[in-house]
Amino acid sequence: MLCVMNTSSGSDKSTRDVQTASATRTDVTAAWRQHAEQLPLQQWPTGALYVVATPIGNLADMNLRAIYALQLADVVAAEDTRTSRTLLQAWGIETPLLPAHRHNEATAAQAIIARLAQGQRVALVSDAGTPAISDPGARIVHAVRAAGYRVIPIPGPSAVIAALMASGMTSDENPAFLFAGFPPPKKHARQQWLQQWCRLPVPVVMYESPHRLETTLRDLLAECGPGRQVTLARELTKRFEEITTLPMSEAGGWLREHAHRSQGEFVLIVEGAPAASGALDARADELLQALLETLSVKDATRLAARLTGTPRDVLYQRALELRGQAEEP
Ligand code: SAM
Repeated sequence: MLCVMNTSSGSDKSTRDVQTASATRTDVTAAWRQHAEQLPLQQWPTGALYVVATPIGNLADMNLRAIYALQLADVVAAEDTRTSRTLLQAWGIETPLLPAHRHNEATAAQAIIARLAQGQRVALVSDAGTPAISDPGARIVHAVRAAGYRVIPIPGPSAVIAALMASGMTSDENPAFLFAGFPPPKKHARQQWLQQWCRLPVPVVMYESPHRLETTLRDLLAECGPGRQVTLARELTKRFEEITTLPMSEAGGWLREHAHRSQGEFVLIVEGAPAASGALDARADELLQALLETLSVKDATRLAARLTGTPRDVLYQRALELRGQAEEP
C-alpha cells in the first residue's frame, strides 16, 4: 500500500525544521525542474526494456529518471496493473499498462519482445520496490536479453537496502551481507534453511510476511541461539516505520508488545555468527551431529576435534547448541 509520510504532525523543533525547509522549497523546485528539463538530453534508446524501481511505501521516493522512463515508455508492464495505475496517476502519468505477473511471465515476455522488435520502449515495474528481487521480472529480463534487446535499470527503492542502511549491521568486511529472500513456509524446510544461514559469519537479510513472522522468529531463536542480534525493520519509509535491533531472545516479546506490530511489512537482518562458530565447516558439523547421537557433549567434542582438527572450544559451543535444539519439544 502506498502512502505519503506525514511530516507535519510534530510540534516544536521538527515543525520548525519542516518550515525552514519549506522556505527554501522554491530553490529545490527550480533545481528539480532544471534536472527534469535535462532528462530528454540523456540516453533513452528505443527497442529497450527499462526496469524501474518504485516506492516501497513513501510516494515521494520516486526519482526523476523513474518518472521520466514511465512517461516515455509506450507501455508499462506491471505485476498488478491496479496497483501501478494508482502510482502512475499520483504522478500524472498516462502510459498504458499491461499485466506481467508470476503466472504470465513467459507470455508477457513474448509480448514485450514483440513490442521491442517494433522499436518501442517498455517499462517494467513490480507492486513496490525493485523488480526481479523477490518479485516478478527476472524471467522477462532473461528472455529480453536472450532475444538480443537492451535492458536498462532505473534503480531506486529496495526493502533490502533500506533495511541494511539503517541497521548498523553492515561493516567493511566482505561479504558485507547476504540476501536470503523469503524463508520456506513448511516447518522442516524452514528450520533447515534457517540453520544454514545461522552458521554463516555474515549478516543475512530475509523478507517475511507478517502472518509468518512470529513462527520464523521462534525458529530463528532455536537455530541461532538467544544471544544473536536481529534487526526488525517494519513499514520502511512509511508513517509508522520502526527499526529495532535486539537479541533474538527478545524479538518475540517486542513483536507482541503492541498489537499493531504484527502487521505491516518486515525485513529481518540476522547478525553473522561469531567467527569461532562460523569457522566450523559443514563436514565437521555433520560429524559432530552424528557423534552426538550416541556420545556425550564432552566425548563427541573430543573425538570430533581429533578427527577434524577443529578447535575444541568451537566444537563444544556447537555441540551445546545442537544438544539444546534436540531437547526442545
Ligand atoms: N522487490 C521488492 C523490493 O525490492 O523491496 C520486494 C518485494 S517482496 C514481494 C515484498 C517483501 O519485501 C515484504 O514481504 C517485506 O518483507 C519486504 N518489504 C517491502 N516493502 C517493505 C517496507 N516498506 N518495509 C519493510 N519491508 C518491506
